[in-house]
Amino acid sequence: MNPKLCLRVCGLYQELVARAINELGYTWVRVEAYTLACSHPQSLNQPVEQLFFAPPPDCTEVLVLGACALSRSAAKQVPTQVGRLVQLEHCLTMVAGEEIWASELRTGAYLMTPSWLAGWQAQLQRWGFDQAGARQFFQECARELLLLDTDTDPNALTALKQFATYVDRPYRVRHVGLDYLKLFLAKPLLEWRIHAAEGQQRQTLQQANRKIADYAMAFDLLVQLSQIQSEVATITAIQNLFAMLFGCTELVYAQIKAGRIKQIFAQENQHEDPATLERILATMRDDYALMASDHGFYLRIQYQQEPLGLIAVYNVAFPEYRTQYLNLSLGITNLCGLALANARTYTALQEVEQSLRRERDLTTQLRQTMSDLAAELNLDRMLRQVLIHLNGLIPSHESRLLLLEAETLRVVSAQSSLEATDKAGQLIRADEPPYALIIERQAPLILGQAALSDPGVLQLAGVAELRSWMGVPLLKGHQVIGVLTIGSLQPDAYRLEHVDLAQMLAHEVTLALDNMRLLQAVHTLADTDPLTGLYNRRRFNVLAEAEFRRVQLHGGDLAAIFIDIDYFKVVNDTFSHAVGDQVLVHVATCLRQVRTSDIVARYGGEEFVIISPAISPAQVRQLAERLRQMVESITFVTTGGPIQITISLGVATVEPGMTTIETLIWRADQALYTAKSTGRNRVAVWGVDVSA
Ligand code: GH3
Ligand code: MG
Ligand code: MG
Repeated sequence: MNPKLCLRVCGLYQELVARAINELGYTWVRVEAYTLACSHPQSLNQPVEQLFFAPPPDCTEVLVLGACALSRSAAKQVPTQVGRLVQLEHCLTMVAGEEIWASELRTGAYLMTPSWLAGWQAQLQRWGFDQAGARQFFQECARELLLLDTDTDPNALTALKQFATYVDRPYRVRHVGLDYLKLFLAKPLLEWRIHAAEGQQRQTLQQANRKIADYAMAFDLLVQLSQIQSEVATITAIQNLFAMLFGCTELVYAQIKAGRIKQIFAQENQHEDPATLERILATMRDDYALMASDHGFYLRIQYQQEPLGLIAVYNVAFPEYRTQYLNLSLGITNLCGLALANARTYTALQEVEQSLRRERDLTTQLRQTMSDLAAELNLDRMLRQVLIHLNGLIPSHESRLLLLEAETLRVVSAQSSLEATDKAGQLIRADEPPYALIIERQAPLILGQAALSDPGVLQLAGVAELRSWMGVPLLKGHQVIGVLTIGSLQPDAYRLEHVDLAQMLAHEVTLALDNMRLLQAVHTLADTDPLTGLYNRRRFNVLAEAEFRRVQLHGGDLAAIFIDIDYFKVVNDTFSHAVGDQVLVHVATCLRQVRTSDIVARYGGEEFVIISPAISPAQVRQLAERLRQMVESITFVTTGGPIQITISLGVATVEPGMTTIETLIWRADQALYTAKSTGRNRVAVWGVDVSA
């Protein structure tokens, strides 16, 4: 936009000056009249505001020509920011050179312009003259009237004649034309123009420099864009880029995923409805859409035809440059798209890497779990291990392992960081939900927060505060043998991937349980006497040795009772070997009537042995006596008929200085020998009835 100058002259010269300007073709000058009245008596005291009032909106500066009436000191005080004043000694200086008007004045001429003459009556009136007063005034101050004719008013001569007649003075015309005025005006106006052009150039240069700096920063940001690895950080950088390029802080960025707006990034005070933006996105034919307000536009950012974002640029700093802003934006949106796509790819790669790492860790953990479970031969410890491993694999607040026994589930192992949970050993009905569902469908079940808010389900799941629960069946072939459960206070914590893990673990548990049962069967075979079910001699030796070691280490009592059936050969001989076997089973049943801590074994043939810990010599004698009486008092029912038998018992207890279990057994055996030799059906005690 070219700047315009507001040129202010005295009202008597406005028309004349406007005409000269028009002939000069200075369209960039607008001529106005100032209101300062030169001829007014108080003109010297009039303020400069009468010269420098606000110019029309299309003018950038005010230039005042004339103001001859203004005092020299007031003229010097005109502030430069309101405009410039070129003060003239007389406004006539504009139409004729000083040499002309000054010499004419000296010879006593009264100088007039056509425009003054055009209003001579009004002028006299303003001065307060009637004809007599006017004649007196002009006769005193003017030898003659002189019209400086600028050729601008064809009536000027007629007016001169009338005026001259009125004031009764001679008159003369001196032709000056408009050329002098034009020359006079050209100098200050062209000077102003040059000055303005320089200013504009300076401003343009400054603007250009600022833009270069902006672009340099923008370029810097663009380069950085491609290096940012997170989408959110990329979006922030894009927002900064646009804000800087357009001097616009009213920006909204909508993140798009799969064609839908996922998230809106805007300043706190900026609100944009996702539905509105989605509608705009759907109706966009090009990469942009203009806003109805004239002050902004929408930009679609995409990569390989896939929209990734939508930017709403609201109030750009200079709306008149909207098209330029838009073109620049379209130039960089491709780069933005590439940067966003890069960031998404990077994030996806990271996620894949993370999930691979997670999977690897899981596999390692699972392998460890499997080998741990397989190596564990103790059932209790194995069951505890299962839940420890389960917690390692899936975060939980409580977990349980339940084994199915007919219609009941027995909690065989439980782990919990919560207070009110089921303890191991508790029995739970298997025919009610959620367990019935798992058992019936032979499939896992996940209960989320909504399902758990059903009080019925909650109660059965065990813990009232649980917000997530999952149960997987232990499947042996097509048979459910138990349920593994896990619960969390976190709402909806469990997903399919957790089910997979729990199922893998459940499978391992089933295998481990199976192994353990097989192992136990083998162990039972190896350790027990098949006829009576008591420990055999081999197992007895191991257990007795362990008990003896324990007593040696920690102190305490330990006793051995040796038992032999009296005249058993006779039973065999009388009734048969098979009936003899039945008698052996009956005797074994009698001998089992001891404390659970006592170890009862068939030592061989019709001989039995008992190792009894924590028992005093007096108590062990009583125990042996009780057993003797029990056998004596019972009539055994056999296929050969009722049979009564008796037993002899030898007792020995651990004494200080005893170093081997064999000594204890030998002493008990010696005591038994004494019992036999002293009549049978009796108890003999080492150290009392017999000694070394
Ligand atoms: P004593 O009072 O001196 O002990 O006389 P006894 O007849 O019981 O003693 P003896 O040692 O002479 O006989 C033991 C018998 O126990 C001999 C043997 O046939 C019998 N016997 C050993 N093992 C078994 C078995 O497993 N079943 C049966 N039916 N008899 C057995
Ligand atoms: Mg014997
Ligand atoms: Mg015998």
